[in-house]
Amino acid sequence: MKLSLKTPVSELRMVGPSYVRKLEKLEILTVSDLLYHRPHRYLDYSNRAKIAGLRPGEITTVSGTIVESKNVYTRTRKAIQKLKLEDDTGVLEATWFNQPYLTGSLVVGARVNLSGEVNKTGLRLEMLSPEYELARKDGAKPIHTGRLVPVYPETQGVSSKWLRSRIAPLIELILPDLPDWLPDSIREKELLIRLNTAIRDVHFPESLREVEQSVKRLSFDEMFLLQLTTLIRKASWNKQKVTRPLLLSIQENHRFRKSLPFALTAAQIRTMHEILEDLRRTKPMNRILIGDVGSGKTVVAALAMYAAFRSHAKSVIMAPTEILATQHEKTLRSLLQPLGISLAFCTASRKENLNSFDVLIGTHAVLFKRVKSEKYGLVVVDEQHRFGVAQRALLIKKGIAPHTLTMTATPIPRTVALTLYGDLDLSIIDEMPPGRIRVKTWVISPQKRQAAYEWIKKRIAAGEQAFIVCPLIEESVHESMTQVKAASEEYEKLKKTIFPDFSLALLHGKMKASQKNETLERFRKGKTDILVTTPVVEVGIDIPNATVMVVEGAERFGLSQLHQLRGRVGRGEKQSFCLLFATKPRAGRTRLKAMESAKNGGELAELDLKLRGPGEIFGLRQHGFSQMKFAQLTDTRLIAKTRDQARKLLTEDPNLLRHPLLADMVSSLEKPVEPN
Ligand code: ADP
Ligand code: MG
Repeated sequence: MKLSLKTPVSELRMVGPSYVRKLEKLEILTVSDLLYHRPHRYLDYSNRAKIAGLRPGEITTVSGTIVESKNVYTRTRKAIQKLKLEDDTGVLEATWFNQPYLTGSLVVGARVNLSGEVNKTGLRLEMLSPEYELARKDGAKPIHTGRLVPVYPETQGVSSKWLRSRIAPLIELILPDLPDWLPDSIREKELLIRLNTAIRDVHFPESLREVEQSVKRLSFDEMFLLQLTTLIRKASWNKQKVTRPLLLSIQENHRFRKSLPFALTAAQIRTMHEILEDLRRTKPMNRILIGDVGSGKTVVAALAMYAAFRSHAKSVIMAPTEILATQHEKTLRSLLQPLGISLAFCTASRKENLNSFDVLIGTHAVLFKRVKSEKYGLVVVDEQHRFGVAQRALLIKKGIAPHTLTMTATPIPRTVALTLYGDLDLSIIDEMPPGRIRVKTWVISPQKRQAAYEWIKKRIAAGEQAFIVCPLIEESVHESMTQVKAASEEYEKLKKTIFPDFSLALLHGKMKASQKNETLERFRKGKTDILVTTPVVEVGIDIPNATVMVVEGAERFGLSQLHQLRGRVGRGEKQSFCLLFATKPRAGRTRLKAMESAKNGGELAELDLKLRGPGEIFGLRQHGFSQMKFAQLTDTRLIAKTRDQARKLLTEDPNLLRHPLLADMVSSLEKPVEPN
């Protein structure tokens, strides 16, 4: 069989079916994933010594011949493995526990390496549970001992040793013929090592310096590809057919603003201008509007829709869920209907007025097909992390180039936004409407839990309402059954033991849309006191009378994610509260404490980035940024360098015709995903 990077691990002889499932948990599906599985550290077993020269406490590798190997049984029938190893200077003993199969391979006469710490009792030298490795027949270098040994992210049943034994032969099979897709000129200019060297050395380096060089090369690759992809995407967007300009006169703009029940914030006015500027061009807008939950993005989008209406173009707004679509409908009805704009609604469970309308509101899953056939002047997509770049690419491929506005409340640092949304123009609402009372936030220790429940009861008795968010079990776009089960159990427990005198309801992603709507409507009308929800439940829901947000197992969440959850309260005039229940006494307390002082989403995201790394920023995983294993999203120098090189390359070869390998990489990154 011819192996390639794309070969699924299931086709490897050395990976059995049960391991295929285990590897999936590590997101390892192909040979490439195995080769790019990055060690998170290295054990230094490179120090070698003769037995006579061993010093207690030292980490060393000893090579010798086995002169004795046996299982000794304790009175409780536990097996202890005893080994004697000899070299030309002396004898070393080694002991393991409960691994009776060891003596089957560690047989007398075999040559073996032992790596670990040496203990000395009297004259006896001993290693306890050392790493061992039989000398390889072909005389090949060891991979588990006698060198820098990689330690990988592991999962139940997949140890680092297992991974090493699979990765090492792959390196020999694949790397020699692996073509380097990075053009030589760039590689040389940036002083980068070759791809095959980098992959080999990241697993089996001779020195930490080699690891550094490898990481440098592989980080460059990731960031360079990202830049290249976004630049290509941007270029292809800019080539789009001329779109109808959407114009709004100053008078009309004033009319819209006068019709609002509030004055716009400076940030809203600024972003509105940025959008109107784009809309008046014939080149289609491709802009993202970033703003905290509650910062007032909807009204900005509504103005753009009004501009479309005044220019006789239809608009569509897509929300990730039915609940959010319904909420948009309500908001837009009050904003747009007075201006003579007619609305239509389209989700799985409800379709209204689809024959004649100016603005269509719905979920993107349902709208998707319609969008392809309809001629829209403006497409607004809410909560972009659930929609994604690939779907947008699909829209373009269909040859429709409406103006598009994407809205997101995913709080990310500006530097990251620039990289992540490199193909989009950014508008940022960095200011909250005035008069909002800051949500008081407390981290609650386990000892204070009961008191906190009592306090919540008092608020509810006073006519207010509370959300209780269940602990995060695993982060995922789709809600897992485990998550739903955990939420249901929590709900039952709260109903029976903590809040028996109040009315509780449960809301989770696996419920039918109509059921969800009904639950939420009852809560909105005050018929339910406490809404118990799973973590992924609707980011944007707006219920002014809900003043208490409780997050269980808060330390499992990212700060920016907590910030988004907190954003669901504090929407009315009353003082609101956010209670972060920390289950483990100290774990992550300091991090959570950051939530107590006033911080906006951007700041919290920045902090998360520092404390937990980019993978943990809420929403980034959904962007496919788990692909970034080596590069730091905040490495501004790398960002600048890779952007320069990508630009230069595309000036010389815009369609990558002379770089087929690169073209291949880019198109595999652009594979569209169907909306969920
Ligand atoms: P988000 O950015 O999270 O989508 P919304 O657009 O839903 O926020 O706005 C949140 C709430 O704030 C809505 O009830 C909206 O009417 C209100 N709002 C928006 N802009 C302002 C403003 N400038 N002054 C006062 N209230 C505002
Ligand atoms: Mg919103």
